[in-house]
Parts: sequence; C-alpha cells; structure tokens
Amino acid sequence: MSREQQAVERARTAFLTGRSKPLDYRIGQLKALQRCITERQKDISDALKKDLNKSEIGTPLYETLGLEGEIMLAVNKLAQWAAPRPVEKNLLTLSDQVFIQPQPLGVVLVIGAWNYPWAVTLQPLIGVIAAGNAAIVKPSEVSVHSSKVMEEILPLYLDKVTPPPPPCPVWSDCERDVPVVTGGVSETQELLRQRFDHIVYTGNSSVGKLVMEAAARHLTPVTLELGGKSPCYIDKQCDITIACRRITWGKFTNCGQTCIAPDYILCEPSLQDRVVEEIRKNVKEFYSDDPKSCVDYGRIINQRHFRRVMALVEGSTIALGGENDESLSYIAPTVLRDVKPDAKVMQEEIFGPVLPIVTVSGVDEAIRFINEREKPLALYVFSPDNKLIRRIIDETSSGGVLANDCLVHFSVSALPFGGVGNSGMGCYHGRHSFDQFSHLRGCLLKSLAMEGVNKMRYPPHTAKKLGW
Ligand code: NAD
Repeated sequence: MSREQQAVERARTAFLTGRSKPLDYRIGQLKALQRCITERQKDISDALKKDLNKSEIGTPLYETLGLEGEIMLAVNKLAQWAAPRPVEKNLLTLSDQVFIQPQPLGVVLVIGAWNYPWAVTLQPLIGVIAAGNAAIVKPSEVSVHSSKVMEEILPLYLDKVTPPPPPCPVWSDCERDVPVVTGGVSETQELLRQRFDHIVYTGNSSVGKLVMEAAARHLTPVTLELGGKSPCYIDKQCDITIACRRITWGKFTNCGQTCIAPDYILCEPSLQDRVVEEIRKNVKEFYSDDPKSCVDYGRIINQRHFRRVMALVEGSTIALGGENDESLSYIAPTVLRDVKPDAKVMQEEIFGPVLPIVTVSGVDEAIRFINEREKPLALYVFSPDNKLIRRIIDETSSGGVLANDCLVHFSVSALPFGGVGNSGMGCYHGRHSFDQFSHLRGCLLKSLAMEGVNKMRYPPHTAKKLGW
C-alpha cells in the first residue's frame, strides 16, 4: 500500500469514528490551527523568505492575517452555520419540519499551490475542518521550504484534541483527521487515484482538468481555484494617479505571482504614456531605484518560471524595467507598451512582474476584448462612473469584479471567492467555505397524523376523488 493510500485510509478511519463532527472538536481544531500559525510565525516567515523572498512583514500581511481572520470568523459563527436552516413551507408541508441540515462530506483532499503557499493551502482547510470533515493536505512541492515546514508543524497542533488510541506509538502512526502528504506530481497523481468525498485544488487550469478527470472516476465533486488573465480597464475619466498606485501594488506584490493580479491593462491610447509614467513613479517609491535590493520585492519561485516569464516578454516593447538576473530569479517590475493582442505575452497568464498595456478605443472595445477570451478570475475597472462599472459587470463574466482597487476583494469573507469557466468552479471564504465543504441535506420531517389529507395521492386516481 502506498504512503498516499495509507494516509487516505487513516483519514477515512478517523472520519468514520465520527470524532471530527462535534462542533467543540471542530472549534478545538480551528483554534489549534490558529495557535500553529501564531506560535510558528517565525518558521513560516523564514520558509517564505527562502521560497519567494517574502519579507517578515509580508508574511502576516499577505499570508497569515487573512487566515487568522477566517479562523476567528469560523469559530464565532460555526454554531449558526451548522444549525438546521428552516426553509419556506408550502400548503402540503405546513405542519411539518422542513429544513436544510449541513453535514460533513467525509474526507477532503486539499491540494495547494506555491505562490501563497500558506494562504491558499490553509484557507480551504479552515472551511473543510469547520464543516466537520477529515482532510488530506497536499502542499505544493514547488514552494519547497514552506511545504517542508507545513509537514513538520501542522501535525504538532492538529489532531491533538483527543489522545491517540493505545496501539499507536506516535501520532503519525494513527488515524489522523488532517494528515499532510508532501511530494510532487507522482505523489499527487497517486493521491488522485484514491477516493475522496471532495477535492479542492488550487493551481493552473491544465492541471485542474487532470484533477477533474481523476475525480470523475469516483464521481467526486471538485472545487477548482484556477487562474487566468485578469484584465484591468482604466477609464479616461478616472484619477490616473490613484488608479496607477493601486495597480502598481496589485501587480508587483509577490513579484506578480498572485492569481488575481491584474494581468494586463486596457486603456485608450491617449492614457498610455501617463500610465507608464505613474507606474514608474510608484515602482520607485515602493521598491526604490533598485528593486533587486529592496526587502519588499519578491523573487520568481524558480528558474523554470523565470525562463517562462522572460520568454513571454520577447517581441514586445519594454516601457519600464526589463532588468533581470537568472541566478537570483529576479525580474524587475516591467511594463510593456503598445502590446498587440496576438503577442506572446497575451497568450497565457503571466504570473510574474510583467504588465502589458493593450490600447483600445474605449469601453465597447474593452468589453469585446474581454469577452473574446477565457473568463478571467478577476476583472478590474478603474472609473468614477458607476454606470460604466455597472455596464462592465452586466456585459462581461469573471470570477469576481473589483472597481477602483486591486486584490482586496480576496479579503472580504462575505464574498464568494472563486472562478468561472476556465478560471475555476466552486467558491470559498467565510460561510461559502463552510457550505462548499458541507452536504446541504434537504430534510422533511412529517408525522403519521393527518392521513386524510393524503387520500388524493393514492390510486386509484379518479376524477371524483380529485374533485374534478
Ligand atoms: P503548482 O505547480 O504548485 O501546482 C499545484 C499543485 O498541483 C501542486 O500541489 C502540484 O503537486 C500539483 N500538480 C502539478 N502538476 C500536476 C500533475 N500533472 N498532476 C497532478 N498534480 C499536479 O502550482 P501552479 O499550477 O504553478 O500554480 C499557479 C497557478 O495557480 C496560476 O495559474 C494561478 O493563477 C493559480 N492560482 C489560483 C488561485 C486561486 O485561488 N484561484 C490561487 C493561487 C494560484
């Protein structure tokens, strides 16, 4: 039996004991996860420094504060979320109990990505635990250091609420609710051969298809948190200074390796020079004249991705940046101007610090441009005109929309976060996570009384009985 198979069997055995279901247990696990994040902040931050050159302050800002907020929310709201939800009755069910009962699904596989290795792996896990499931956690092997630390520290905190059963000498040898399984493609593929009750995968769309294919063999439902090219339309009426400040931050945070980073700018030709100049000023202010030595500027995760991003720049005109150093996986904040729709950089998600500007004649062409391509994960529009914003919402599709800012919709727990079409399926965050990883079971509880009202449904069906 493979290591992966064993982990899944143990998680299933743990789930079948029923111990992950009581709300107190779930809250205990969530608080343990919270302690893990707080007490091991230094280990997390050191790993992120090695993986992505994230700064010490960047760790709480972009990885763990959001997790802590989600944990607090789940702990505080769990009783409400997990309670039966009464629904509207009709004439035939007036005297019955009619409600939706959220129930755990079983064993959930959580496959994480490397760009925010803690946030995108543990955030779904919060919902999985809150909903009363067991989970297998598979961090991305690409963020080598974070993956190793996660494997080490999670088991020291989770599954500790009840003592191990006597035959198990150490925790890792017994049934665990939340085992961490590390490894690369072959280990993930071996995991995917197992049967799960749900799979949540964060990563690129090509692998998303493989995950869905594997899940289909067991009719396992999936949540796919994928990526894509998120457009950013700048309307000429808007305050370009503020818009570009927010776009510079949204694009170059984490060296552009953010699933919801603005991938490219759409604007009228008359705005292009101004946009480049504003971004130049902001880059200098945020990351100094030498971003390479700036503590707040990240690195590309590895050389394979470095070469991929650099290859995308080929054939386009660099308006800003372009400096790079392969030995350090460093690419300066880069803006490309007058980019043609058929340029290399417009054919795939950039996922790096390169921002192309594509000029359009106005909002009509911008909408057409967006609709001719795959549905993005995020869509940004900068404009003071609410009618224009509303029009873009109504006439396009994307996982989420954010007007006049970048990235921050991710932090609003009340909003469902997820893609549509090529950018994913399903959603999570806050209560949406709880619902996504629960079975919402329809329950109708009747009594054996009032049998008289049923007489019409029993054969023989005669017009007389129906009063026709
Ligand atoms: P990755 O290479 O870390 O892959 C993600 C996971 O898939 C890993 O755990 C890996 O082991 C597994 N994997 C890789 N190849 C596989 C294969 N052939 N078969 C089975 N499993 C395999 O991450 P990535 O895909 O490079 O991540 C970047 C992508 O993720 C971008 O497209 C980004 O937009 C997207 N993303 C989306 C979100 C979101 O919330 N929607 C968040 C972060 C990243």
